[in-house]
Amino acid sequence: MATEPEHDSLEQVADEVRVCTRCELSRSRTHAVPGEGNPKARVMLIGEGPGWHEDQQGKPFVGASGKFLTELIGHAGLQREDVFITNVVKCRPPGNRDPLPDEIEACSIYLDRQVKLIDPDVIVTLGRFSMSRYFPGERISRIHGQAKEIGHRLVVPMYHPAAALHQGALKATIIEDFEKLPRLLADREKAREAAREKGESATQSSMF
Ligand code: SF4
Repeated sequence: MATEPEHDSLEQVADEVRVCTRCELSRSRTHAVPGEGNPKARVMLIGEGPGWHEDQQGKPFVGASGKFLTELIGHAGLQREDVFITNVVKCRPPGNRDPLPDEIEACSIYLDRQVKLIDPDVIVTLGRFSMSRYFPGERISRIHGQAKEIGHRLVVPMYHPAAALHQGALKATIIEDFEKLPRLLADREKAREAAREKGESATQSSMF
């Protein structure tokens, strides 16, 4: 059974994912897709699972929806190198079917570790399966683009880029949602500075 090592790292998680057999998806995959990006990213994007292109290349979001995701990240004033991108399941469900609850549960050990290691300010969920991790029972059409403070970070549910590619009407919506990210990040930075200043003035006043 995979357990969290004492000195964990993103490389360690990726190495374990590549040889993982914790669920049935290991049988049909070509390559597992651990995720990639900036290990100190302030924004982490969590999709559903690898598709055909991702399974072939072992990289997340490399097909048409990946190209669109790169565009969306640009609408947030960022580049792919600035963020970390992964999925709730790291192996491709056959025929692009939905991942099953027991597969998501089996794979959550890796996503939990990635979130803990990267410790982003903002998590963007892409599609309903990653949304359910933070907003169980909610509907994406009701809550997309609305940031919620969960723990010490913001989680923003968004449509999956593939859905927006297939339904033209959603394209403008998902672009608008990504355009909200710079303000959220700036607010987060301000809150951090305020907390730092408060901490410093508390230290100074305790010196007198
Ligand atoms: S989907 Fe996750 S739990 Fe299942 S085999 Fe792949 S890495 Fe392991």
